[in-house]
Amino acid sequence: MIQVHKLTFNPFQENTYVLSDETKECIIIDPGCYEKVERDHLQQFIEGNGLKPVKLVNTHCHIDHVLGNYFVSEQWGLELWMNELDIPTLNAIQNYADLYGLGGYQLSPQPSHFLNGGDKLTFGNSSLDVIFGPGHAPGHLAFYSAEDKFVINGDILFQGSFGRVDLPGGDFATLKKTILEKMFALPDDTVVYTGHGAETTIGTEKESNPIRWMEL
Ligand SMILES: [Zn+2]
Repeated sequence: MIQVHKLTFNPFQENTYVLSDETKECIIIDPGCYEKVERDHLQQFIEGNGLKPVKLVNTHCHIDHVLGNYFVSEQWGLELWMNELDIPTLNAIQNYADLYGLGGYQLSPQPSHFLNGGDKLTFGNSSLDVIFGPGHAPGHLAFYSAEDKFVINGDILFQGSFGRVDLPGGDFATLKKTILEKMFALPDDTVVYTGHGAETTIGTEKESNPIRWMEL
């Protein structure tokens, strides 16, 4: 059984997820830790629970989701797993980190492995289905566990809202298609772990998320 642990980091209040199972192996998804105190917090959680990180994973590569990529890759010797279409997003960060007041951004490693829709993301005894979900970012992924009834969905769905589409590579029609055809195809009792804010469920969002009724 997969344990999901959420830590919230950086000025964007981004949710970082550590997924672990009974083997004590874990993967770190979207490490947003920026300040030393945040990096220490992540390290203490990992070490305090005796976890062994085996993969660094990004749902997508907006700055708030990758601020801790360098630290995580160096600290635990991890390679980066992500979708190839988000490489331009990753490489653009250096140009505007200062603009966001995040001049301390430490350059993320380049990906060593690409994940695509239909792939399995594995660690320990566990396996997650990779969902390709563009719209908020061109190479956006979500990670779904049918067995444990949750999805790590980055910035696709939020509780009562959805990811912005005004950043480079964003597109409203594409995001709406991702949400209606892929996210809403998951069982209603699936817990949605979001990139910002609180968890929700697919059933709740199917009923009340405004994107269903929106046109751009
Ligand atoms: Zn984002």
